[in-house]
Amino acid sequence: MRLVLLGSTGSIGRNVLEIVRRFRGKFEILALAAGENFELLCRQVEEFRPRWVAVKSEEIAEELKKACSVEEVLWGPEGLERLASLEGADVVVVALSGQTGVRPAYAAARRGKRIALANKESLVSAGHLIMEEAKRNGSVVLPVDSEHSALMQILEGRKDEMEKVYITASGGPFFRSRPEKIEVEDVLSHPVWKMGKKITVDSATLMNKAFEMVEAKWLFGLYPEQIDVLIHPQSVVHALVKLRDGSMVAHLFKPDMKIPILYALSWPERWALPEASFSLASVQKLEFYEADRREFPALKIADEMLRKPYSFAAAVNAANDAAVEAFLEERIDFDSILKVIELTVKEHRPFNPSSIEDVEEVISWARGRAQEIIERLRLQR
Ligand code: MG
Repeated sequence: MRLVLLGSTGSIGRNVLEIVRRFRGKFEILALAAGENFELLCRQVEEFRPRWVAVKSEEIAEELKKACSVEEVLWGPEGLERLASLEGADVVVVALSGQTGVRPAYAAARRGKRIALANKESLVSAGHLIMEEAKRNGSVVLPVDSEHSALMQILEGRKDEMEKVYITASGGPFFRSRPEKIEVEDVLSHPVWKMGKKITVDSATLMNKAFEMVEAKWLFGLYPEQIDVLIHPQSVVHALVKLRDGSMVAHLFKPDMKIPILYALSWPERWALPEASFSLASVQKLEFYEADRREFPALKIADEMLRKPYSFAAAVNAANDAAVEAFLEERIDFDSILKVIELTVKEHRPFNPSSIEDVEEVISWARGRAQEIIERLRLQR
């Protein structure tokens, strides 16, 4: 199986390469793309010998050419799009972070590629366009997100019996133990998953869960009222589906991203991964709590994203991107992240974008407006 891996130096990308190492002989790395971490990318290039490589900018491309044995290095958004549409790629893994994933995911869908999608932002911003192209061109979109991988596995052969789906949320680091003032380092210590910075902040605000609700809508063609969240601190049950007769089916696995990654790559087969087995007795108890919208205002934003015309979610996503960046740089405090989103989208009149260019316009407007709001909040501090 020939893989194109976009976002190879991030947390998901590194896990994908672990799986490739673990199942040597099953995969060939056709292309790798990363942003700025060219030292790690260089090592990956030496190890996996991809035919194609792409990085963020021309300067990094030049550095990479000097530093390791690779002749042609593509760069910028065009580089990513080219790799996503490569002839001969069996699977395109989109593990880029943030909005950079939108165009490559769309390009891969247009080329009818099988997509292992870890970049939920692309579905949040342009889900209707990506899924439409995927359908038209016979592209299969397989989720790498743990909750959606669980949902897909529950729903296989059961779609007609389904009434409602629940994705679980750990509740983040502040569930029931919220410090007076939340610092960046408090946020970056997630209780269960070890992930990149952006998604760790999103997990703490629960915006990650909000985006996952939208992701579920597009992946499985659900109505807004069919999607909800349960707080489940142990993160062992990743999703549940309520069936027509009131019974529920849950999908459990150890919180290790290698499991959903492997399923997205091996699908429709299931390959053995004995090291991932675990004992429920060692977990002892599984707790579930209602996801209270007052306690988790991000989920209220999610309810709106599910119901409003699609550009609304794109605007939320872009405003969140800007706000998270500002929080990590200590320009705004933790509680201002949602405030920035709310103030930004209040000025947006939602519509259904008919092209990726429309989506990008919304994204750049929302980002710009969010920056201004951040600046205002910073001066008020
Ligand atoms: Mg997830």
